[in-house]
Amino acid sequence: MTDYASELRAGIAAVRQAARLCQTVQRSITADALEKKDKSPVTIADFGSQAIICKAIGEAFPDDPIVGEEDSAELKEPGNEAFLTRIVAELTAVGLSGSPEDACRWIDRGGWNGEGMPGERFWTLDPIDGTKGFLRGQQYAISLAMIENGQIAAAIVGCPNLPLEATARGASADDSIIARGAGSLFVAARGAGAFVLPIDGDSAFDPASATSVQVSTVADFAAARLCESVESGHSSHSHSAQIAAELGIVHEPARLDSQAKYAVVARGEADIYLRLPTRPGYREKIWDHAGGVLVTEEAGGTVTDITGKPLDFTHGRELTENRGVVVTNGPLHERVLAAVRNAGIE
Ligand code: AMP
Ligand code: MG
Repeated sequence: MTDYASELRAGIAAVRQAARLCQTVQRSITADALEKKDKSPVTIADFGSQAIICKAIGEAFPDDPIVGEEDSAELKEPGNEAFLTRIVAELTAVGLSGSPEDACRWIDRGGWNGEGMPGERFWTLDPIDGTKGFLRGQQYAISLAMIENGQIAAAIVGCPNLPLEATARGASADDSIIARGAGSLFVAARGAGAFVLPIDGDSAFDPASATSVQVSTVADFAAARLCESVESGHSSHSHSAQIAAELGIVHEPARLDSQAKYAVVARGEADIYLRLPTRPGYREKIWDHAGGVLVTEEAGGTVTDITGKPLDFTHGRELTENRGVVVTNGPLHERVLAAVRNAGIE
């Protein structure tokens, strides 16, 4: 077992329970709601997922702060009672009964919102990463990580719509890696490797028998596959196209939402994930990366910002010292960084 066996055990159970809630809510999304750009399903699943995970981590590790994306302030505003009622109902449906006040308390267990480091040891959570993908019925992730002394130590990243089996690297892989499937749960502990388990069920995690994941060995851009955000507001598609052309990447980029991008690089379905700033002032949020970064690094990959600096998780809720993110299988990294530098991103 790894040094972080109890953290992984608690995190895996919590992320699986949160995934069940998210899957139920995602199935309830109607075309009509989408048409009206009604964001209530994502709101309900977001808060429900955070409540489940923060309750579980808070009980297992009472001294650990949790930096979650959400807090309950919005839910307590007049007019939002129906949201809270629905959240309580969805929590009950996955076996977590409590009052509306309990739900808010669980959510706020993840509400650390200070300056600097929350503690020597803390967790960060994105209860639904890739909300746009969630609403479209496509990829999203539930990303939980524990950070100790500035290093990501343990990661549990649920990808409920990412097939458990990696897609063979064929001509049509661009489509199939964004297809819906049975659901994958990626688990990593520093120094112990990265693994994939089914997101459904409650199979125990044992690193001795679990399926480990490894990045590709692709060293040639003609064979390389790049992935990026679906949303051009989150990562510049025009700069990535320019970089791909300079490097001689011939495959079209695979576009998928959420930290599922880290997962597809980790298991070798793609070799490069670019997150290129779309505006100078934006700072990446720690919960959008911590889980995915450790999964990819433990699978053998390399993660830096666009200048080549490691991501620095010691500055609170944002990666204030970094800009953008470059993820590769390793062998491609320096050449990708050189092309990113040439792209003249502001
Ligand atoms: P993705 O699914 O990879 O496109 O990323 C989704 C995440 O993008 C969300 O969780 C947001 O926190 C984050 N996000 C929002 N605005 C921006 C932005 N301007 N640049 C980069 N990321 C952003
Ligand atoms: Mg997110």
